[in-house]
Amino acid sequence: MKMKKMLSAVLASALVIGSVNPCFASATQQKIDEAQKQKQEMESSISEAQDKIDALESKKGQSESYLEDLNGQLEELKNSLQKLQDEYDDKQAELGQVQKELEEAKASEAQQYNDMKIRIQYMYENSSTSYVEMFLSADSISEFLSRAVNIAQLSEYDRELLEEYQETREQIAEKEKQVIQEKEEIQELQIQSQDKQAEVSELIEATYNEIRSYQDSISQAQSEQADLLAEVSAQEEEINSLIRQAKEEEIAAQKAEEEAQRQREEAEAAQNQQNSSSGTGGSTAQTPAQDETQDSTGDSGNSSQGKYLGKFRLTSYCACSICCGSWSGGPTASGTVPTAGRTVAMGGVPFGTKLLINGHIYIVEDRGTAYGHVDIFSNSHSEALAFGSKYADVYLVE
Ligand SMILES: [Zn+2]
Repeated sequence: MKMKKMLSAVLASALVIGSVNPCFASATQQKIDEAQKQKQEMESSISEAQDKIDALESKKGQSESYLEDLNGQLEELKNSLQKLQDEYDDKQAELGQVQKELEEAKASEAQQYNDMKIRIQYMYENSSTSYVEMFLSADSISEFLSRAVNIAQLSEYDRELLEEYQETREQIAEKEKQVIQEKEEIQELQIQSQDKQAEVSELIEATYNEIRSYQDSISQAQSEQADLLAEVSAQEEEINSLIRQAKEEEIAAQKAEEEAQRQREEAEAAQNQQNSSSGTGGSTAQTPAQDETQDSTGDSGNSSQGKYLGKFRLTSYCACSICCGSWSGGPTASGTVPTAGRTVAMGGVPFGTKLLINGHIYIVEDRGTAYGHVDIFSNSHSEALAFGSKYADVYLVE
């Protein structure tokens, strides 16, 4: 229920001040005007602080969605890196297998080579030793084969078999080279993925720091705003007490005016008495006249109705969002359930203050209007609207 107050209080107090007689209240009125001006400056600072907070919140929001995007990228990179690791492990196993096959092929080839040498040695043992030496002195298998081609006696079968073994060994060696190359390619991709991951992680760190810095600035601005709100609150209290002072000055001035009027009438009456009778009972006749005057000025003194506070402006509000904004439907500023016929809002007096207005006692339970403007709670917005705006004498009930 406090919300509407922020906005209406300025208007309301301006109207109330307008109702104060300028002849009696000019010095106080000047103070009120000055206080109102200061309050407006504070409110404009609050509004500036809010703009700053909004801008920071917006930037923070952008950074947060960027951070979300980066975290998504990082997740994807981690997944792809895991996939590469799996591929690398598979390739490593394949390489182990190929290398094992290569060892076997080399062994088969060497075995065949040895078998052939033995057979050739046997074949030529007793004939031409120069051939044997020629074969046995070959530096490599290919040299051996090229020499063997020319030897008619060399078994065709042996030769083909050795060539087959050699071919198998070369194929496997080729396969090994290919697998090693594939493994290196995977490693290259892993390095790229790790680099990208490091890059994204750095961006995440930077963005996170940026968000934290925005949050710090927001907290700072919010704290400044809270200080300003407290200052506005204090200023409202100051304004309320100045308005109360102006009201009291107005009542005192009325009283003085009435007293002057009474004295004029008294003087006139005394004059008339003197004119009509030559007696000396003038002073005894004055006493009842004085009493009569006091009784008739109940408006300006402390009567059975309570202490007269002055002519206040009356309006009405309800619990709707038009009247109360975001506070709509909630409790009053003092925590009570707003009740028609009892609840009123007004600043400058403590909660629970009883006000007598048009013969009915209301209790101040809510805030939002300045001192001198009573906002009366209604059950519906149409009732509040129908009430309109009026002025009435207000008494403080002790
Ligand atoms: Zn309403």
